Amino acid sequence: MSLFVWPEASRDFVSLTDASQVSGSPRDYYLFRGAEILLRFDENDQLEPVPDDDPLIDKLDQEKTHYLGELAGRHVFASEISNTGIEEKTLGLRALFGRIDRLTFNVASRAVQVLNWHQSHQFCGRCGGRNIPHERDRAMVCRDCRLHVYPRLSPSIIVLVHHEDEVLLARNHRFPEGMYSTLAGFVEPGETIEQTVHREVFEEVGLQVSPPQFMGSQSWPFPDSLMLGFHAEYAGGDILCQEDEIADAQWFPLGDLPAIPGKMAISRWLIDSYLSLRGIPIQDS
Ligand SMILES: [Zn+2]
Repeated sequence: MSLFVWPEASRDFVSLTDASQVSGSPRDYYLFRGAEILLRFDENDQLEPVPDDDPLIDKLDQEKTHYLGELAGRHVFASEISNTGIEEKTLGLRALFGRIDRLTFNVASRAVQVLNWHQSHQFCGRCGGRNIPHERDRAMVCRDCRLHVYPRLSPSIIVLVHHEDEVLLARNHRFPEGMYSTLAGFVEPGETIEQTVHREVFEEVGLQVSPPQFMGSQSWPFPDSLMLGFHAEYAGGDILCQEDEIADAQWFPLGDLPAIPGKMAISRWLIDSYLSLRGIPIQDS
């Protein structure tokens, strides 16, 4: 059962916040212009950060530069480069999903979320006063009323509903033609994630499920989601699609699946891991 492990459990990157503990080199920088990351590729065609001995680093705005943590013995930073005169080519991070390795995507995800959060919390949401960075924590603090604001995460569930050798897959109106995936939805205030699974499955396709089993999670920085992935056994009901959300939902035999998301997506992993549990071969791509 544990043979098919969700690869998000990488320990290569350690998230850290307090840059005052960081001394000297080596440092790497992920540079963003808004939601777009500066493109540099190494000899293996992998996206790489800008090292601290690069002339670009002198141009960075220190107020818009944030410590992210440690990756393979190097300190990693993020910096917003709009208005710095840096004009190298950038591309939206979403367009790089599936094209860059998982660990790089995770670190870049952290970078873009920290930068977006900092940029959109310059003023207090309660009194309108000016916010300043907390001296140690990842927080913005209002100079007037002392309200502390931390980076926001929006938890959501993503669930594969299964019944013996069939899985329930659905497509929403925005999916590419013929593409199906697992069900997903945001956690409401006050809900447990298990309640969210039951509610979302019933709202979207009208089915009941048994208590869901947590399988793994994936950070999804568009803009600040954390997806919690589950398997849930079908427990009753007939498919009834929520019209404004779901274009179609069907039971598919495991040996005859439609087009599904790529290998980097947790939705795909939830499907592949169920195939594995049922002893059915997994497609390579
Ligand atoms: Zn305030």
